[in-house]
Amino acid sequence: MTPGEYARAAALWLLGIGLLSLATLYAHDALWPLSAALGAGAGLCANTALYVSTRAEERAARPTAADQPPAVADAIDGCVAVAAASACCEKWWTSCGFMHEATCHRWRETAR
Ligand SMILES: [Zn+2]
Repeated sequence: MTPGEYARAAALWLLGIGLLSLATLYAHDALWPLSAALGAGAGLCANTALYVSTRAEERAARPTAADQPPAVADAIDGCVAVAAASACCEKWWTSCGFMHEATCHRWRETAR
C-alpha cells in the first residue's frame, strides 16, 4: 500500500469509529432513527476501508513489467539468430532450407 492508500484507509476507519461513537450516544438517549443512520454510516465506512485496503493489496500483487516474460520480438530475434547460425550456404537460406549449393558440404541433403 502506498502512503496515500494507508492515509485513506486510516481516515475511513477513524470516521467509522467516530460515527459509531455518535450512534452509541444517540442510542443512549433513545434517538433510534438517528442512531441507526449513524450506525449504517459507520458500517459503510468500515466496508469502504476494507475495500480500499484489498484493492491496494491486489494492485501491489499484480506483476510489473519486469516480471513479464520477454516480448514476442525477443523470441523472434532468437529464432532468427538460431536459423542464421545453422545456415550453411546461401541457397539453403534462400530456399528456406530445402536445397544446398553444389559446393556445400551438406549438398547430399538437398530435397529432390
Ligand atoms: Zn548448404
